[in-house]
Amino acid sequence: MDFDVSDEMQTMLAMITSFVDDEVIPLEGEFLHGTPEELAKQVEVLQGKVRQMGLWAPNHPVEFGGLGLSMLDHGLVSEALGRSPLGHVVFGVQAPDAGNIEILHAHATPSQRERYLRPLVAGEIRSCFSMTEPETAGSNPTLLATTAVRDGDDYVVNGQKWFTSSADGAAFAIVMAVTDPEAPPHRRASMIIVPTDTPGFNLVRNVSVMGHAGSGHASHAEVIYQSCRVPRSNVLGAEGAGFAIAQERLGPGRIHHCMRWLGIAARSLEMLCDRANARVIAANGETLADRQVIQHWVAELDAEIRSARLLTLHAAWMIDTVGAKAARDEIAGIKFTVANTMLRAVDTAIQVHGALGVTDDTILSYWYRHERAARIYDGADEVHKTSLGRRLLGQAASR
Ligand SMILES: Cc1cc2nc3c(=O)[nH]c(=O)nc-3n(C[C@H](O)[C@H](O)[C@H](O)COP(=O)(O)OP(=O)(O)OC[C@H]3O[C@@H](n4cnc5c(N)ncnc54)[C@H](O)[C@@H]3O)c2cc1C
Repeated sequence: MDFDVSDEMQTMLAMITSFVDDEVIPLEGEFLHGTPEELAKQVEVLQGKVRQMGLWAPNHPVEFGGLGLSMLDHGLVSEALGRSPLGHVVFGVQAPDAGNIEILHAHATPSQRERYLRPLVAGEIRSCFSMTEPETAGSNPTLLATTAVRDGDDYVVNGQKWFTSSADGAAFAIVMAVTDPEAPPHRRASMIIVPTDTPGFNLVRNVSVMGHAGSGHASHAEVIYQSCRVPRSNVLGAEGAGFAIAQERLGPGRIHHCMRWLGIAARSLEMLCDRANARVIAANGETLADRQVIQHWVAELDAEIRSARLLTLHAAWMIDTVGAKAARDEIAGIKFTVANTMLRAVDTAIQVHGALGVTDDTILSYWYRHERAARIYDGADEVHKTSLGRRLLGQAASR
Protein backbone atom coordinates (compact mmCIF):
# COMPACT_ATOMS: atom_id res chain seq x y z
CA MET A 1 0.00 0.00 0.00
CA ASP A 2 1.29 3.41 -0.90
CA PHE A 3 -0.82 6.53 -0.42
CA ASP A 4 2.09 8.88 -0.82
CA VAL A 5 1.00 12.21 -2.28
CA SER A 6 3.49 13.70 -4.76
CA ASP A 7 4.92 17.19 -4.17
CA GLU A 8 3.15 18.41 -7.29
CA MET A 9 -0.17 17.08 -6.02
CA GLN A 10 0.37 18.62 -2.58
CA THR A 11 0.94 22.01 -4.19
CA MET A 12 -2.20 21.62 -6.25
CA LEU A 13 -4.29 20.54 -3.24
CA ALA A 14 -3.03 23.55 -1.27
CA MET A 15 -4.02 25.86 -4.14
CA ILE A 16 -7.47 24.27 -4.42
CA THR A 17 -8.10 24.35 -0.66
CA SER A 18 -7.19 28.02 -0.31
CA PHE A 19 -9.28 28.92 -3.36
CA VAL A 20 -12.28 27.08 -1.86
CA ASP A 21 -11.80 28.77 1.52
CA ASP A 22 -11.12 32.28 0.18
CA GLU A 23 -13.37 32.46 -2.89
CA VAL A 24 -15.95 29.67 -2.91
CA ILE A 25 -17.12 29.50 0.72
CA PRO A 26 -17.86 33.27 0.77
CA LEU A 27 -20.37 32.60 -2.06
CA GLU A 28 -22.44 30.33 0.16
CA GLY A 29 -24.53 33.29 1.41
CA GLU A 30 -25.65 33.91 -2.19
CA PHE A 31 -26.22 30.17 -2.62
CA LEU A 32 -28.46 29.98 0.46
CA HIS A 33 -30.29 33.31 0.20
CA GLY A 34 -29.79 34.85 -3.26
CA THR A 35 -31.30 34.23 -6.68
CA PRO A 36 -30.16 31.41 -9.03
CA GLU A 37 -29.40 34.04 -11.71
CA GLU A 38 -27.07 36.08 -9.50
CA LEU A 39 -25.41 32.93 -8.18
CA ALA A 40 -24.82 31.66 -11.74
CA LYS A 41 -23.08 34.95 -12.63
CA GLN A 42 -20.79 34.77 -9.62
CA VAL A 43 -20.03 31.09 -10.17
CA GLU A 44 -19.05 31.91 -13.75
CA VAL A 45 -16.56 34.52 -12.50
CA LEU A 46 -14.95 31.94 -10.21
CA GLN A 47 -14.92 29.33 -12.99
CA GLY A 48 -12.98 31.85 -15.11
CA LYS A 49 -10.39 32.22 -12.32
CA VAL A 50 -10.09 28.43 -12.00
CA ARG A 51 -9.42 28.16 -15.75
CA GLN A 52 -6.76 30.86 -15.50
CA MET A 53 -5.09 28.90 -12.69
CA GLY A 54 -4.99 25.84 -14.99
CA LEU A 55 -7.12 23.84 -12.57
CA TRP A 56 -10.29 23.39 -14.63
CA ALA A 57 -11.76 19.85 -14.63
CA PRO A 58 -8.68 18.30 -12.98
CA ASN A 59 -10.22 14.82 -12.82
CA HIS A 60 -10.84 14.50 -16.54
CA PRO A 61 -8.62 12.99 -19.27
CA VAL A 62 -5.69 15.10 -20.48
CA GLU A 63 -6.76 14.86 -24.14
CA PHE A 64 -9.96 16.68 -23.17
CA GLY A 65 -8.30 19.46 -21.25
CA GLY A 66 -8.31 17.81 -17.81
CA LEU A 67 -5.28 16.81 -15.74
CA GLY A 68 -5.85 13.04 -15.98
CA LEU A 69 -5.42 12.35 -12.27
CA SER A 70 -5.21 8.87 -10.73
CA MET A 71 -8.24 7.72 -8.70
CA LEU A 72 -6.38 8.48 -5.47
CA ASP A 73 -5.50 12.02 -6.56
CA HIS A 74 -8.99 12.45 -7.98
CA GLY A 75 -10.34 11.54 -4.50
CA LEU A 76 -8.11 14.05 -2.74
CA VAL A 77 -9.32 16.81 -5.09
CA SER A 78 -12.92 15.78 -4.45
CA GLU A 79 -12.35 16.03 -0.69
CA ALA A 80 -10.90 19.54 -0.99
CA LEU A 81 -13.81 20.65 -3.20
CA GLY A 82 -16.41 18.98 -0.96
CA ARG A 83 -15.78 21.58 1.74
CA SER A 84 -18.41 23.68 -0.02
CA PRO A 85 -21.53 22.60 -1.96
CA LEU A 86 -20.27 24.90 -4.75
CA GLY A 87 -16.74 23.47 -4.95
CA HIS A 88 -17.28 20.85 -7.65
CA VAL A 89 -19.33 23.17 -9.89
CA VAL A 90 -16.73 25.94 -9.70
CA PHE A 91 -13.98 23.49 -10.76
CA GLY A 92 -16.07 21.78 -13.49
CA VAL A 93 -16.21 18.30 -11.91
CA GLN A 94 -19.76 18.13 -10.58
CA ALA A 95 -22.00 15.06 -10.59
CA PRO A 96 -23.63 13.80 -12.76
CA ASP A 97 -21.38 15.29 -15.48
CA ALA A 98 -18.23 13.79 -13.96
CA GLY A 99 -19.62 10.22 -14.18
CA ASN A 100 -21.04 10.82 -17.65
CA ILE A 101 -17.66 12.10 -18.82
CA GLU A 102 -16.04 8.87 -17.59
CA ILE A 103 -18.40 6.59 -19.51
CA LEU A 104 -18.38 8.79 -22.62
CA HIS A 105 -14.60 8.77 -22.56
CA ALA A 106 -14.58 4.98 -22.34
CA HIS A 107 -17.39 4.16 -24.79
CA ALA A 108 -18.34 7.09 -27.05
CA THR A 109 -17.85 6.85 -30.82
CA PRO A 110 -15.65 9.55 -32.41
CA SER A 111 -18.71 11.58 -33.42
CA GLN A 112 -20.32 11.21 -29.92
CA ARG A 113 -17.04 12.41 -28.44
CA GLU A 114 -17.01 15.54 -30.57
CA ARG A 115 -20.69 16.34 -30.11
CA TYR A 116 -21.16 15.52 -26.40
CA LEU A 117 -17.91 14.79 -24.57
CA ARG A 118 -15.72 17.67 -25.69
CA PRO A 119 -18.20 20.48 -24.87
CA LEU A 120 -19.12 18.72 -21.61
CA VAL A 121 -15.52 18.68 -20.36
CA ALA A 122 -15.11 22.28 -21.50
CA GLY A 123 -18.12 23.24 -19.34
CA GLU A 124 -20.02 24.61 -22.36
CA ILE A 125 -22.95 22.26 -21.75
CA ARG A 126 -24.34 20.15 -18.88
CA SER A 127 -25.78 16.62 -18.89
CA CYS A 128 -27.86 14.24 -16.78
CA PHE A 129 -28.18 10.52 -16.13
CA SER A 130 -31.68 9.09 -16.40
CA MET A 131 -32.06 5.61 -14.94
CA THR A 132 -34.34 5.60 -11.87
CA GLU A 133 -38.11 5.27 -12.29
CA PRO A 134 -40.85 6.09 -9.78
CA GLU A 135 -42.76 2.88 -10.53
CA THR A 136 -39.91 0.34 -10.34
CA ALA A 137 -37.37 -0.32 -7.57
CA GLY A 138 -34.15 1.55 -8.33
CA SER A 139 -32.34 -0.94 -6.09
CA ASN A 140 -32.98 -3.61 -8.71
CA PRO A 141 -32.61 -1.90 -12.09
CA THR A 142 -33.23 -5.16 -13.99
CA LEU A 143 -36.90 -4.31 -13.32
CA LEU A 144 -36.67 -1.15 -15.48
CA ALA A 145 -39.83 -0.47 -17.50
CA THR A 146 -38.60 2.25 -19.90
CA THR A 147 -38.22 0.85 -23.40
CA ALA A 148 -36.31 1.84 -26.54
CA VAL A 149 -37.76 0.10 -29.58
CA ARG A 150 -35.95 -0.14 -32.93
CA ASP A 151 -37.73 1.57 -35.83
CA GLY A 152 -35.59 1.63 -38.97
CA ASP A 153 -32.37 3.48 -38.11
CA ASP A 154 -33.90 4.98 -34.97
CA TYR A 155 -34.74 4.06 -31.41
CA VAL A 156 -38.05 5.27 -29.98
CA VAL A 157 -37.89 5.77 -26.20
CA ASN A 158 -40.96 5.58 -23.94
CA GLY A 159 -41.04 5.67 -20.16
CA GLN A 160 -41.15 7.68 -16.95
CA LYS A 161 -38.04 8.56 -14.95
CA TRP A 162 -37.44 10.59 -11.86
CA PHE A 163 -34.45 11.84 -9.90
CA THR A 164 -32.78 12.63 -13.20
CA SER A 165 -30.51 15.05 -11.35
CA SER A 166 -29.59 18.31 -13.12
CA ALA A 167 -31.88 17.62 -16.13
CA ASP A 168 -33.09 21.24 -15.83
CA GLY A 169 -30.87 23.09 -18.32
CA ALA A 170 -28.95 19.99 -19.44
CA ALA A 171 -28.15 19.56 -23.14
CA PHE A 172 -28.54 15.79 -23.14
CA ALA A 173 -29.49 12.81 -21.00
CA ILE A 174 -27.89 9.39 -20.93
CA VAL A 175 -30.99 7.22 -20.63
CA MET A 176 -31.07 3.63 -19.48
CA ALA A 177 -33.79 1.78 -21.43
CA VAL A 178 -34.71 -1.81 -22.22
CA THR A 179 -33.71 -2.58 -25.83
CA ASP A 180 -34.09 -6.38 -25.74
CA PRO A 181 -36.71 -7.64 -23.27
CA GLU A 182 -35.95 -11.27 -24.23
CA ALA A 183 -32.25 -11.09 -23.31
CA PRO A 184 -30.91 -12.30 -19.93
CA PRO A 185 -31.75 -9.65 -17.26
CA HIS A 186 -28.34 -7.96 -17.28
CA ARG A 187 -28.20 -7.76 -21.10
CA ARG A 188 -31.65 -6.23 -21.59
CA ALA A 189 -30.87 -2.54 -21.27
CA SER A 190 -28.74 -0.08 -23.24
CA MET A 191 -27.56 3.45 -22.58
CA ILE A 192 -28.86 5.92 -25.14
CA ILE A 193 -27.89 9.56 -25.55
CA VAL A 194 -31.03 11.70 -25.82
CA PRO A 195 -30.59 15.44 -26.50
CA THR A 196 -33.08 17.27 -24.27
CA ASP A 197 -34.47 19.24 -27.23
CA THR A 198 -35.67 15.99 -28.86
CA PRO A 199 -39.47 16.08 -29.31
CA GLY A 200 -40.97 13.78 -26.64
CA PHE A 201 -38.38 14.64 -23.95
CA ASN A 202 -40.73 16.15 -21.36
CA LEU A 203 -39.32 17.58 -18.17
CA VAL A 204 -42.48 17.41 -16.03
CA ARG A 205 -41.17 19.04 -12.85
CA ASN A 206 -38.21 19.46 -10.58
CA VAL A 207 -39.19 17.18 -7.69
CA SER A 208 -39.35 19.01 -4.37
CA VAL A 209 -36.77 17.49 -2.00
CA MET A 210 -36.83 18.39 1.72
CA GLY A 211 -38.83 21.52 0.92
CA HIS A 212 -36.92 22.72 -2.17
CA ALA A 213 -37.53 21.96 -5.84
CA GLY A 214 -34.25 23.67 -6.73
CA SER A 215 -33.32 24.64 -10.28
CA GLY A 216 -30.61 24.16 -12.88
CA HIS A 217 -27.77 21.96 -11.73
CA ALA A 218 -29.20 21.74 -8.19
CA SER A 219 -32.43 19.90 -9.01
CA HIS A 220 -33.88 16.42 -9.54
CA ALA A 221 -36.32 16.14 -12.42
CA GLU A 222 -39.20 13.90 -13.30
CA VAL A 223 -38.95 13.23 -17.03
CA ILE A 224 -41.45 11.52 -19.32
CA TYR A 225 -40.05 10.11 -22.57
CA GLN A 226 -42.95 10.03 -24.98
CA SER A 227 -42.20 8.49 -28.39
CA CYS A 228 -38.82 10.18 -28.13
CA ARG A 229 -36.97 9.32 -31.36
CA VAL A 230 -33.18 9.31 -31.62
CA PRO A 231 -30.84 7.74 -34.20
CA ARG A 232 -29.52 4.27 -33.42
CA SER A 233 -26.04 5.80 -33.52
CA ASN A 234 -26.92 7.47 -30.19
CA VAL A 235 -26.48 4.19 -28.31
CA LEU A 236 -23.48 4.48 -26.00
CA GLY A 237 -21.22 1.43 -26.24
CA ALA A 238 -22.69 -1.88 -27.34
CA GLU A 239 -26.42 -2.55 -27.44
CA GLY A 240 -27.33 -4.50 -24.28
CA ALA A 241 -24.25 -3.23 -22.42
CA GLY A 242 -26.19 -0.75 -20.24
CA PHE A 243 -25.66 -2.59 -16.95
CA ALA A 244 -22.00 -3.28 -17.60
CA ILE A 245 -21.39 0.42 -18.31
CA ALA A 246 -23.49 1.47 -15.28
CA GLN A 247 -21.28 -0.69 -13.08
CA GLU A 248 -18.17 1.03 -14.48
CA ARG A 249 -19.69 4.42 -13.72
CA LEU A 250 -20.55 3.57 -10.13
CA GLY A 251 -17.17 2.32 -8.84
CA PRO A 252 -15.07 5.47 -9.40
CA GLY A 253 -18.19 7.56 -8.79
CA ARG A 254 -18.32 6.26 -5.24
CA ILE A 255 -14.76 7.43 -4.55
CA HIS A 256 -15.82 10.84 -5.86
CA HIS A 257 -18.90 10.93 -3.57
CA CYS A 258 -17.15 9.46 -0.49
CA MET A 259 -14.26 11.93 -0.69
CA ARG A 260 -16.73 14.79 -1.23
CA TRP A 261 -18.57 13.61 1.91
CA LEU A 262 -15.28 13.54 3.81
CA GLY A 263 -14.80 17.18 2.80
CA ILE A 264 -18.24 17.92 4.29
CA ALA A 265 -17.43 15.93 7.44
CA ALA A 266 -14.10 17.74 7.90
CA ARG A 267 -15.66 21.19 7.51
CA SER A 268 -18.53 20.26 9.86
CA LEU A 269 -15.99 19.22 12.50
CA GLU A 270 -14.04 22.46 12.01
CA MET A 271 -17.24 24.47 12.41
CA LEU A 272 -18.15 22.43 15.49
CA CYS A 273 -14.76 23.15 17.09
CA ASP A 274 -14.88 26.87 16.23
CA ARG A 275 -18.36 27.20 17.72
CA ALA A 276 -17.45 25.20 20.83
CA ASN A 277 -14.39 27.39 21.43
CA ALA A 278 -16.33 30.63 20.93
CA ARG A 279 -19.60 29.90 22.72
CA VAL A 280 -19.46 31.08 26.34
CA ILE A 281 -21.85 29.06 28.50
CA ALA A 282 -21.01 30.23 32.04
CA ALA A 283 -20.48 33.53 33.84
CA ASN A 284 -16.85 32.59 34.54
CA GLY A 285 -16.16 32.55 30.78
CA GLU A 286 -16.22 28.80 30.30
CA THR A 287 -17.10 27.75 26.78
CA LEU A 288 -18.74 24.68 25.29
CA ALA A 289 -15.22 23.43 24.57
CA ASP A 290 -14.66 23.12 28.32
CA ARG A 291 -17.42 20.49 28.59
CA GLN A 292 -16.30 16.87 28.49
CA VAL A 293 -19.26 15.75 26.38
CA ILE A 294 -18.16 18.10 23.58
CA GLN A 295 -14.54 16.98 23.92
CA HIS A 296 -15.68 13.36 23.52
CA TRP A 297 -17.75 14.19 20.45
CA VAL A 298 -14.76 15.93 18.87
CA ALA A 299 -12.42 13.03 19.64
CA GLU A 300 -14.87 10.40 18.39
CA LEU A 301 -15.69 12.28 15.21
CA ASP A 302 -12.05 12.99 14.46
CA ALA A 303 -11.17 9.28 14.80
CA GLU A 304 -14.20 8.24 12.78
CA ILE A 305 -13.43 10.67 9.95
CA ARG A 306 -9.78 9.59 9.85
CA SER A 307 -10.78 5.89 9.64
CA ALA A 308 -13.34 6.57 6.91
CA ARG A 309 -10.73 8.59 5.02
CA LEU A 310 -8.13 5.83 5.17
CA LEU A 311 -10.72 3.27 4.07
CA THR A 312 -11.64 5.46 1.09
CA LEU A 313 -8.05 6.23 0.08
CA HIS A 314 -7.34 2.51 0.26
CA ALA A 315 -10.32 1.75 -2.04
CA ALA A 316 -9.08 4.43 -4.47
CA TRP A 317 -5.60 2.96 -4.40
CA MET A 318 -7.11 -0.50 -5.08
CA ILE A 319 -8.96 0.87 -8.13
CA ASP A 320 -5.69 2.39 -9.38
CA THR A 321 -3.73 -0.81 -8.85
CA VAL A 322 -6.12 -3.75 -9.46
CA GLY A 323 -9.18 -2.11 -11.05
CA ALA A 324 -12.74 -1.34 -9.92
CA LYS A 325 -14.01 -4.90 -10.36
CA ALA A 326 -11.42 -6.44 -8.05
CA ALA A 327 -11.99 -3.60 -5.57
CA ARG A 328 -15.74 -4.13 -5.28
CA ASP A 329 -15.68 -5.18 -1.59
CA GLU A 330 -13.66 -2.09 -0.68
CA ILE A 331 -15.99 0.12 -2.72
CA ALA A 332 -19.13 -1.37 -1.12
CA GLY A 333 -17.62 -0.90 2.36
CA ILE A 334 -16.84 2.79 1.93
CA LYS A 335 -20.23 3.66 0.46
CA PHE A 336 -22.23 2.97 3.65
CA THR A 337 -19.43 3.75 6.13
CA VAL A 338 -18.59 7.23 4.83
CA ALA A 339 -22.21 8.26 4.22
CA ASN A 340 -23.02 7.55 7.87
CA THR A 341 -19.85 9.21 9.19
CA MET A 342 -20.63 12.36 7.19
CA LEU A 343 -24.23 12.47 8.42
CA ARG A 344 -23.10 12.02 12.02
CA ALA A 345 -20.59 14.86 11.62
CA VAL A 346 -23.23 17.23 10.21
CA ASP A 347 -25.77 16.26 12.88
CA THR A 348 -23.29 16.68 15.75
CA ALA A 349 -22.13 20.04 14.42
CA ILE A 350 -25.77 21.19 14.30
CA GLN A 351 -26.26 20.04 17.91
CA VAL A 352 -23.25 22.06 19.08
CA HIS A 353 -24.50 25.15 17.20
CA GLY A 354 -27.86 24.91 19.02
CA ALA A 355 -30.63 26.95 17.38
CA LEU A 356 -28.10 28.51 15.01
CA GLY A 357 -27.46 25.01 13.65
CA VAL A 358 -30.98 24.62 12.28
CA THR A 359 -31.10 28.10 10.71
CA ASP A 360 -29.94 28.80 7.18
CA ASP A 361 -27.30 31.21 8.53
CA THR A 362 -24.72 28.43 8.23
CA ILE A 363 -24.30 25.72 5.59
CA LEU A 364 -24.99 22.92 8.11
CA SER A 365 -28.77 22.81 7.71
CA TYR A 366 -28.38 22.70 3.91
CA TRP A 367 -26.18 19.64 4.27
CA TYR A 368 -28.56 18.08 6.79
CA ARG A 369 -31.39 18.32 4.23
CA HIS A 370 -29.55 17.51 1.05
CA GLU A 371 -26.98 14.97 2.10
CA ARG A 372 -29.45 12.63 3.81
CA ALA A 373 -29.85 11.12 0.36
CA ALA A 374 -26.24 9.82 0.58
CA ARG A 375 -27.55 6.66 2.23
CA ILE A 376 -29.94 6.05 -0.69
CA TYR A 377 -28.39 6.97 -4.07
CA ASP A 378 -25.66 4.96 -5.79
CA GLY A 379 -26.94 1.94 -3.88
CA ALA A 380 -28.77 2.11 -0.55
CA ASP A 381 -26.82 1.15 2.58
CA GLU A 382 -28.76 -2.10 2.92
CA VAL A 383 -28.01 -3.20 -0.64
CA HIS A 384 -24.25 -2.67 -0.23
CA LYS A 385 -24.22 -4.38 3.16
CA THR A 386 -26.16 -7.36 1.80
CA SER A 387 -23.87 -7.89 -1.17
CA LEU A 388 -20.68 -7.36 0.84
CA GLY A 389 -21.89 -9.56 3.73
CA ARG A 390 -22.97 -12.30 1.35
CA ARG A 391 -19.59 -12.35 -0.39
CA LEU A 392 -17.68 -12.40 2.90
CA LEU A 393 -19.82 -15.26 4.23
CA GLY A 394 -19.35 -17.15 0.96
CA GLN A 395 -15.57 -16.73 1.20
CA ALA A 396 -15.66 -17.93 4.82
CA ALA A 397 -17.71 -21.00 3.82
CA SER A 398 -15.24 -21.97 1.11
CA ARG A 399 -12.16 -21.69 3.36
C1 LIG B 1 -30.66 13.09 -4.24
C2 LIG B 1 -30.77 11.93 -5.20
C3 LIG B 1 -30.18 12.03 -6.45
C4 LIG B 1 -30.33 11.01 -7.38
N1 LIG B 1 -29.79 11.16 -8.63
C5 LIG B 1 -30.06 10.23 -9.58
C6 LIG B 1 -29.67 10.44 -10.94
O1 LIG B 1 -29.03 11.45 -11.29
N2 LIG B 1 -30.04 9.52 -11.88
C7 LIG B 1 -30.75 8.40 -11.55
O2 LIG B 1 -31.03 7.60 -12.44
N3 LIG B 1 -31.11 8.16 -10.26
C8 LIG B 1 -30.81 9.05 -9.29
N4 LIG B 1 -31.24 8.85 -7.99
C9 LIG B 1 -32.02 7.67 -7.67
C10 LIG B 1 -31.29 6.64 -6.84
O3 LIG B 1 -30.30 6.01 -7.60
C11 LIG B 1 -32.35 5.65 -6.29
O4 LIG B 1 -33.16 6.38 -5.38
C12 LIG B 1 -31.74 4.43 -5.63
O5 LIG B 1 -31.18 3.57 -6.58
C13 LIG B 1 -32.79 3.64 -4.81
O6 LIG B 1 -33.89 3.32 -5.62
P1 LIG B 1 -35.38 3.66 -5.12
O7 LIG B 1 -35.44 5.07 -4.70
O8 LIG B 1 -36.32 3.21 -6.17
O9 LIG B 1 -35.58 2.80 -3.79
P2 LIG B 1 -36.07 1.30 -3.68
O10 LIG B 1 -35.34 0.41 -4.63
O11 LIG B 1 -37.55 1.28 -3.70
O12 LIG B 1 -35.56 0.93 -2.21
C14 LIG B 1 -36.10 1.59 -1.06
C15 LIG B 1 -35.34 1.15 0.18
O13 LIG B 1 -35.51 -0.24 0.36
C16 LIG B 1 -34.37 -0.81 0.94
N5 LIG B 1 -33.89 -1.88 0.05
C17 LIG B 1 -33.92 -1.90 -1.30
N6 LIG B 1 -33.42 -3.06 -1.76
C18 LIG B 1 -33.07 -3.79 -0.70
C19 LIG B 1 -32.47 -5.07 -0.50
N7 LIG B 1 -32.10 -5.84 -1.54
N8 LIG B 1 -32.26 -5.49 0.77
C20 LIG B 1 -32.61 -4.73 1.82
N9 LIG B 1 -33.16 -3.50 1.70
C21 LIG B 1 -33.39 -3.04 0.47
C22 LIG B 1 -33.34 0.32 1.09
O14 LIG B 1 -33.39 0.80 2.41
C23 LIG B 1 -33.83 1.37 0.12
O15 LIG B 1 -33.47 2.69 0.53
C24 LIG B 1 -31.07 9.85 -7.02
C25 LIG B 1 -31.65 9.73 -5.76
C26 LIG B 1 -31.52 10.76 -4.85
C27 LIG B 1 -32.20 10.63 -3.51
